[in-house]
Amino acid sequence: MVIKKICCIGAGYVGGPTCSVMALKCPHITVTVVDKSKDRIAQWNSDKLPIYEPGLDEVVAECRGRNLFFSTDIETAIKEADLIFISVNTPTKTFGNGKGRAADLKYVEGAARMIAEMASGDKIVVEKSTVPVRAAESILNILRANNKPGVSYQILSNPEFLAEGTAIDDLLKADRVLIGGEDTPEGHAAVEKLCWVYEHWISRCNIITTNTWSSELSKLAANAFLAQRISSINSLSAVCEATGADISEVARAVGLDSRIGSKFLQASVGFGGSCFQKDILNLVYICECLNLPEVAAYWQQVIDMNEYQKSRFSAKVIESLFNTVSDKQITILGFAFKKDTGDTRESPAIHVATTLLDEGAKLHIYDPKVEPSQIIDDLTHLSVTEEPENVKNSVTIHSDPYAATMGTHAIILCTEWDEFVMLDYERIYKGMMKPAHIFDGRKILDHDRLIKIGFQVQTIGKRLAR
Ligand code: NAD
Repeated sequence: MVIKKICCIGAGYVGGPTCSVMALKCPHITVTVVDKSKDRIAQWNSDKLPIYEPGLDEVVAECRGRNLFFSTDIETAIKEADLIFISVNTPTKTFGNGKGRAADLKYVEGAARMIAEMASGDKIVVEKSTVPVRAAESILNILRANNKPGVSYQILSNPEFLAEGTAIDDLLKADRVLIGGEDTPEGHAAVEKLCWVYEHWISRCNIITTNTWSSELSKLAANAFLAQRISSINSLSAVCEATGADISEVARAVGLDSRIGSKFLQASVGFGGSCFQKDILNLVYICECLNLPEVAAYWQQVIDMNEYQKSRFSAKVIESLFNTVSDKQITILGFAFKKDTGDTRESPAIHVATTLLDEGAKLHIYDPKVEPSQIIDDLTHLSVTEEPENVKNSVTIHSDPYAATMGTHAIILCTEWDEFVMLDYERIYKGMMKPAHIFDGRKILDHDRLIKIGFQVQTIGKRLAR
């Protein structure tokens, strides 16, 4: 069987960009991305795509209508496809009075049930979503339960390693593509077919094949390692602030050791995004189920340290503003969880903003890519003490950074957008209340210059002269 048609269930941050690049590089394969959300599909078929990723508009413009399609007709796409990616969301669920947290696989299960109901012929089903180890077993159980005549399934694990903000580059020049499959002749044949698809643009030596469980665990392990580096450097940033050491100097000295390397050693207000916390919680839960409490506790610390960092930063802001922010006007620059994306899932800005709102602050928020409705939605859902109406009255969303800083007491920089480095801070200083404070949660600004202008500056992992 040659792969002629691919279906992807889930038109999100992973399904959309991944299939767009696949369609670009495999012009003879028809790629159809389906989603149960009519709005999302309509946006994929419009000029304003539902997600912002540098380079994505261009790839979609080249392929859409040629061999790339976005559709709500899930049944036809499943029926016609040789290979089906499951790329649905895998959020975290809480249980046991909120004490336990684990991956909620209801969307993966839903997708598997749709395939079982609608499929005909031979199908290769590929887990693209990040799932717990041995999830493939449960999916196969659902797929094969119907025992439909003339239908056969092979299941593969092919986790996605793209990072939001650099998704297109990551997909075009992947460090590695990982494919896990069953150790049977049919399993090997399915792996080979998916390898063939990727070999249209990824060199064979960068395609790693493993057994299914190694592949599933590798994705959780990769995110756990990345998050662990951030928590490690953030933990040391607290030591720097207490001692006078400078975390940038420490990171440089440590990172020049070739065994350690310099990437992912940037101290900050904390990590965010839909994956790091969720995937580590998933790993922790698996370890608990496997009766490995010490291993679970080890990885839980990575999350606890991230919570500590966000709280520590928010507390520092309040303390520096004379220990009260009640009725103070405060600017938040950046709301996305990182630059070059409009995604706010688990963004540290949400933690900072809700802490300040709960203490009575008036917020002025500017982000170049996040929709205003998304910001209000995040804050009304997550503020602990404030009623949604109060939150709305206490928050102004601006479409211009200068307007967002006019007349405010402090600026808190939460996302490392390049444009924040280029702002005219002399102009901003003139328009602000005095003393004017800046809290640089991403360590991207020229602190010496800001101090010369007159700002009171605070950052992560370094004591600055007042
Ligand atoms: P997302 O929420 O952006 O998109 C998921 C989409 O699946 C939604 O549009 C939803 O409507 C759709 N969906 C859910 N159930 C469906 C069904 N039964 N039929 C049709 N559509 C359905 O999620 P995402 O960020 O793209 O993440 C998808 C998976 O990839 C997750 O497991 C995530 O952990 C993993 N992942 C995400 C990233 C990332 O940076 N976002 C990176 C690597 C891996």
